[in-house]
Amino acid sequence: MKTALVTGGAGYIGSHCLKPLKAEGWDVVVVDNLSTGHKKAVTGFKLETGDIGDPDFLDKIFSSHTIDAVLHFAASAYVGESVQNPAKYYRNNVVNGLNLLTSMLRNGVKDLIFSSTCATYGNPTEIPITEKHSQTPVNPYGYTKMVFERMATDLARSSGLRPVFLRYFNAAGASDDGLIGEDHDPETHLIPLAIATALGLRGELTIFGDDYPTNDGTCVRDYIHISDLADAHMRALEYLRGGGEPTAFNLGNGEGYSVRQVIETVEKVSGKPVKVKMGARREGDPPTLIGSAEKARKVLGWQPKFPDLESIVKTAYKWHETNPNGYS
Ligand code: UDP
Repeated sequence: MKTALVTGGAGYIGSHCLKPLKAEGWDVVVVDNLSTGHKKAVTGFKLETGDIGDPDFLDKIFSSHTIDAVLHFAASAYVGESVQNPAKYYRNNVVNGLNLLTSMLRNGVKDLIFSSTCATYGNPTEIPITEKHSQTPVNPYGYTKMVFERMATDLARSSGLRPVFLRYFNAAGASDDGLIGEDHDPETHLIPLAIATALGLRGELTIFGDDYPTNDGTCVRDYIHISDLADAHMRALEYLRGGGEPTAFNLGNGEGYSVRQVIETVEKVSGKPVKVKMGARREGDPPTLIGSAEKARKVLGWQPKFPDLESIVKTAYKWHETNPNGYS
């Protein structure tokens, strides 16, 4: 049986890949330090608790399991926090990331799917953004993900590493079975915050700036369902194992929604008002991020099942309504 090592598998995106991996015949080993991940999100899977920054821990994992491929999600992932505390981001995402890469190579593991981001593009000069767009991030989070891609690309040339970079746009929603979903502490993402406000769990939602050069002045993002992201990881693994070359794929729906449109959609789905107040711009936010995922559709045969915002918000709403306190 082939075995996948999933770093950060107790986190939001990693945990949604576990069942699809199992369904496609993979044995799964999750590595997570549980600093932000949830044990309950890994129910039914092998969890090795530890840090990817620890070379001995990783060598032990690689020597006690025959790992065929690594899906690397373990990272710090808040844009705002990365501006406040860049050292944490360079340590977790770059230094510890390099530790994982060197440990993989030391142990003869070459196939890697990396959880990258549209934040590596910075302020886009062309919409929709394709994989050929220049990578000039505007926040430390984006830089750390870009540097990881750079390190892996150089190691591909020097040591035969086989990385595929999946550059996500805005991940949202929850699994269809309602068992796992989004639970960050603190929560900073728009959709869960708007839903929590609709559910009366929060007083009001702050809109970060309405003076952007967009239709209604609020930021525009391309939201992509978490299960569609998970499916793209399965297709990317197949691609790698079929001999595909190291490359990058954007993952988004190719459609942009403003902060105000997201709020209206949450109001429609929940049937409840979302109380808002206007706030200042959040540092590091580009006005518009919309991706072209044509390459993933063509090369991987990837086809999102939740192409519109309303269907994405419905699954998120179901999760938050059933689990108002997340996993706890
Ligand atoms: N946003 C907002 N209020 C909030 C949280 C987010 O106005 O309380 C905006 C944010 O500025 C961005 C968009 O919503 O333009 C999506 O932000 P999120 O943090 O969900 O994802 P990101 O784009 O940072 O990955």
